[in-house]
Amino acid sequence: MNALEVHDLTVSYGDIRAVKGISFTVKQGEIFTLIGANGAGKTSTLRALSGMLKYGGRVVYEGTEIDAIAADKRVGLGLAHVPEGRGIFGNLTVMENLKLGAWLRKDKSGVAEDLERGLTAFPRLRERKDQAAGTLSGGEQQMLAVARALMSRPKTLLLDEPSMGLAPKLVQDIYRVVREINAQGVTIVLVEQNANLALKIAHSAAVLETGSISLIGTGAELLSDPRVQAAYLGA
Ligand code: ATP
Repeated sequence: MNALEVHDLTVSYGDIRAVKGISFTVKQGEIFTLIGANGAGKTSTLRALSGMLKYGGRVVYEGTEIDAIAADKRVGLGLAHVPEGRGIFGNLTVMENLKLGAWLRKDKSGVAEDLERGLTAFPRLRERKDQAAGTLSGGEQQMLAVARALMSRPKTLLLDEPSMGLAPKLVQDIYRVVREINAQGVTIVLVEQNANLALKIAHSAAVLETGSISLIGTGAELLSDPRVQAAYLGA
């Protein structure tokens, strides 16, 4: 079964058409990346998938059309979103932020287990678990955003520019974690401006240009495509 099937997706802001009817499929268990320049419509696409904004077209998640399903219910179905800018609560502690990621879950022991697993996967977060999240570094906040999303036990994780604003070493760390999460069976939809990084770990990929998909293929195919190299890889 496919994790996601996106049919003719459109997003508009008033008269501005940010996403102009795109279609793509994300297979279960894969890393799919959507690359593109500033303003191409990547964030708008992810926000549509998670139900955070109104859109046209159809989104099928694990075989079920979810267009009429609200954002919080989509999280309950296993579709979690790590937003651009991370969306963590700065006044709350690391631990409180993590617990918020599990707010829909009723299985207390499972939540406690996942909390422990998250703190083990991110030792930095364990060291700072009682610290206000707003005092974390950018990289630590990004880790927290990912760890918090994992607290909903997602089957598919929507990740918006996890490398943004991070030092190269931290970017490597985040990408290692993304790979590990995927190796545990979580499907990843990754939106990135850093095409080089994203294409290297992606099984399949698409290029978004001013709201339309211009190229689609495997990560390796796009990485070696001269058009991608010229436009996005600085070749
Ligand atoms: P970036 O990498 O810069 O975040 P992006 O590819 O994620 O870019 P979007 O944020 O989806 O692109 O934006 C796509 C287009 O929609 C842009 O032209 C942007 O200016 C416009 N847009 C986004 N959000 C709004 C909004 N709330 N109101 C009006 N226009 C918007």
